[in-house]
Amino acid sequence: MPGSFSHHFDTPSYKGTVTIPTGLFINGSFVDGSDKTTIDVLNPATGNFLTKVSEATPQDVDTAVKAAQDAFATTWGLNAPGAKRGELLYKLGTLMDAARDELSALEALDNGKTFNWAKTVDIDLSVAVVKYYAGWADKITGQTLETDERKLVYTRHEPIGVVGQIIPWNFPLLMFVWKIAPALATGNTIVLKPSEFTPLTALRMCAMIQEAGFPPGVVNVITGYGNTVGAAISSHMDILKIAFTGSTIVGRKIMEAAAKSNLKPVTLELGGKSPNIIFNDADLDNAVEWTAFGLYWNHGAACCAGSRIFVQSGIYDKFLEKFTEKSKSIRIGDPFGKDIDQGPMSSEAQFNRIMGYIESGKADGATVHMGGERFGTEGYYINPTIFTDTTPEMKIVKEEIFGPVGIIIKFEDEDDVVRQANDTLYGLVAGVFSQDIDRAIRTAHRVQAGTIWVNCFHNFAPNIPFGGYRQSGIGREMGEYALHHYTNVKAVHVNIGHRM
Ligand code: NAD
Repeated sequence: MPGSFSHHFDTPSYKGTVTIPTGLFINGSFVDGSDKTTIDVLNPATGNFLTKVSEATPQDVDTAVKAAQDAFATTWGLNAPGAKRGELLYKLGTLMDAARDELSALEALDNGKTFNWAKTVDIDLSVAVVKYYAGWADKITGQTLETDERKLVYTRHEPIGVVGQIIPWNFPLLMFVWKIAPALATGNTIVLKPSEFTPLTALRMCAMIQEAGFPPGVVNVITGYGNTVGAAISSHMDILKIAFTGSTIVGRKIMEAAAKSNLKPVTLELGGKSPNIIFNDADLDNAVEWTAFGLYWNHGAACCAGSRIFVQSGIYDKFLEKFTEKSKSIRIGDPFGKDIDQGPMSSEAQFNRIMGYIESGKADGATVHMGGERFGTEGYYINPTIFTDTTPEMKIVKEEIFGPVGIIIKFEDEDDVVRQANDTLYGLVAGVFSQDIDRAIRTAHRVQAGTIWVNCFHNFAPNIPFGGYRQSGIGREMGEYALHHYTNVKAVHVNIGHRM
């Protein structure tokens, strides 16, 4: 029998006890993995052991796929009217709404993000996304098409079937709902793998999915490692579509596995190295605040972090002074502290990776303008770090660091900055700060990225699509756009009395 994990929180931000099942969620029940092995989950604030969750095997993937196929053929797919799917999704959103504090606490415990940020961004948006797609479920319509008077043609947007979904550790709950909500609204059944580093909120969600009354097998969540369970999902012959959020390197492996197995369609949300452009005519104080949010939100572990900060020469010195002051004011510490802005990195591996990038920046001759070292002696905390005097070929300029590390680059004019901003393999987001509307919009149109924030950063809403150009991904999440990835279009030709 699978176990459960109970944690009592007695913190300035949250007091209460949270209990979650720790088994695999297959066919509506929590079960042990077929090998009965487990994965340790650690607390990033201390490095200490928190709990263990079941480790799935490829055999468990098969069992989950079978459950999802059965549900698709009997209780879900074309057998569950849109109104019913919407009702269940809305119920799930309502249960999440009632558990905001609990979900925020679990997210902060597991990931290291601050409780306050988890509550005001991750959980708020997660609830909104589930309710938004609940509204779509009975509005998935095709078209009636004109040919001639003896023919009626219409299209149906039918669910694909069993879809595989693989998500990362940086926004464990948000990525979970970005994936499941559009897939369920359109009538698909799901086999999802959370990150092995942060499985806790996904497991809490499974209990809510049970409570909301989704038929067994509609959502199956299996905790496990990427190179075993993730690989089994992406190469499975009966999984008919795969959606992935994570690194570009793994995205490439997923696409290869999909191509080599059953050519399942792939959507990918990958990394970024996003430019944030501040022109001489920007509102300086406003730009400093948004730029800090753009870089340091979620301890810098955001695919959409504005980590290449381009500042025009006329305000460079003043901006650097104010931005340094702002960066120094960031309060680092326990994610449950009342006034804490930045918690620890999510794992030792991630901490080491970021410190490795900082060392490479130093070795390549960039100037550490501030930070550049760990904070404290326990847990995986890193001081906000700013590099200046970089050159375009340096690793810290080209590669995603995924931590509180920014590069500040001086530029002269619009053409120069657009060229530098676009000099990247990625294209996820960009920021543009200017009070000249012509310049702001012109630049927004010239920078190649899936989202451009003008005089702001990290703005999200359930009805606005999000996704990347180039190696930042394929497809879009959220909004009506995400629904298209989860349906097949069928054209039905009806002959009205024309005899051969
Ligand atoms: P990762 O690619 O290492 O892992 C992501 C998921 O893939 C995990 O569940 C992991 O177990 C699984 N995985 C690993 N190897 C696999 C394999 N061979 N086959 C199948 N699955 C495998 O990424 P991460 O370190 O968890 O997350 C960080 C990355 O995610 C960053 O690059 C970040 O930019 C990206 N990200 C992108 C978005 C977006 O919307 N574009 C959002 C969040 C994170």
